[in-house]
Amino acid sequence: MSQGEGLRRGVYLHIPFCASKCGYCNFYSCVAARSVQETYVSALCRAVETAGTGEEIATVYIGGGTPSVLPEDAFDRIFCSLRHAFDCSQAEEITVECNPDSADENFFQRLKHAGVNRISMGCQSFVEEELQQLGRRHTAADARRAFRAARNAGFDNISLDLMLAIPLQTKESLTRSLQAVAELSPEHLSAYLLKIEEGTPFSRRPILPDDDLAADLYLLASEFLSCKGYEHYEVSNFARKGFRAKHNSAYWQGREYYAFGPGSYGYLCGERFFWEADLSRFLSGTPRRIIEERLSAEDIRREKRILSLRTSDGVKVDGLTYEQAAYLNGLIPSGLVKASDGRFSLTPSGFLVSNEILSHLF
Ligand code: SF4
Repeated sequence: MSQGEGLRRGVYLHIPFCASKCGYCNFYSCVAARSVQETYVSALCRAVETAGTGEEIATVYIGGGTPSVLPEDAFDRIFCSLRHAFDCSQAEEITVECNPDSADENFFQRLKHAGVNRISMGCQSFVEEELQQLGRRHTAADARRAFRAARNAGFDNISLDLMLAIPLQTKESLTRSLQAVAELSPEHLSAYLLKIEEGTPFSRRPILPDDDLAADLYLLASEFLSCKGYEHYEVSNFARKGFRAKHNSAYWQGREYYAFGPGSYGYLCGERFFWEADLSRFLSGTPRRIIEERLSAEDIRREKRILSLRTSDGVKVDGLTYEQAAYLNGLIPSGLVKASDGRFSLTPSGFLVSNEILSHLF
C-alpha cells in the first residue's frame, strides 16, 4: 500500500569497495578481491530481502565506496532483490555512483537496463595536477569519456562531484574545472569543500588553501554555476530546473530511509542508526545495528527546520521563535540571510557559515 507521496521512504545501499584509497577519504571502503565483492553482493541481497516490507519506495541510492568496481552482474542481482523486497515501481529516482576509471558504456547500458535513471560521477577536478594531488586514478579525459558514455547509454540525469579547496587549487584552476563542467552540462553538480579528516593521509599534509581562499573558491563556484543556469539549492549542491537530487533532498526534508551495508546510516521510525563499519561481520551475516539517537516529535520538528535552512527553500518565519527570527533578521544587512515570501533563507555567503548560524539558532 502506498504511504502517500510525502511519506514514502528511500533506500540507501552502501558498496564498501574502491579500486584504491584516496588520501583524503574517510568513507568506509577498502580494496577487495573479486571473490569478496561477490560474497558481499550476496550478503547485501540477503539483508535487503530480509528487511523488505513490500512498501512503496520513493528513491534508491547506491553509493560507496565505488559501486562501479562491482562485478558485471552485481546490479542485476541487487535490483532483483530490491524489487523482491520493496515496491520500486513508482520510484522516481534510482541513482548509482561511479568513478570515471571504472565506468564505460557497457557499464552504463547495464545500469540503464536494470532501471537506473540517474548517475552520480566523482570527477572532483578537471585539472591533472589536482587529480594527482588527490590521488585519483582517473584523468580529466577519462571523466569526459565516462560522462559521454553515460549520455550515449541514454542517461539524461547526471550529477558530477567537484571538490573545492584542493591542494594547489587557485581561482584560475577552479575556473578551468568549472568551464569543463559547463561544457559537459550535467543536470546536477555537487561541489564540496575538501575537509581534512583525522587519520587520513591528508591530515599530515600542509599545503591546503587557507580559509580565505577556500571561501573565495566556494563563492566563485556558486557565482559561476548560477551564471550557467544552475540553482544553488543546498550548501554543496547545484541543479538545473527540475533536477534537484530527490534522494538527498529527502534527507534534508527529514524523511526516513532504509540503509544497508557496513558503515551506512539510516533513519527509520524516528531512530537514527548506523550499521557498524565491519565488513567481516556483514559478510558473516551478523552485522550490528547501532542506534545513534531516538528523536521525539519535538526533535523531529526542530531538525526539519535546521535541515530546511541548509537549502535555498529556507524556513518559514512563523515557525521560528521571536529570538530566532530576530537573529536571522539581524544577519540580512551582512548579506548572509535574505527574506522573501514569509521565509528566511541563507545566501551563498550564508551557506559558507551555515554551521555557525544553525548552531546559534537551534
Ligand atoms: S573513490 Fe571515493 S570512496 Fe573511494 S577512496 Fe576515493 S573518495 Fe573515497
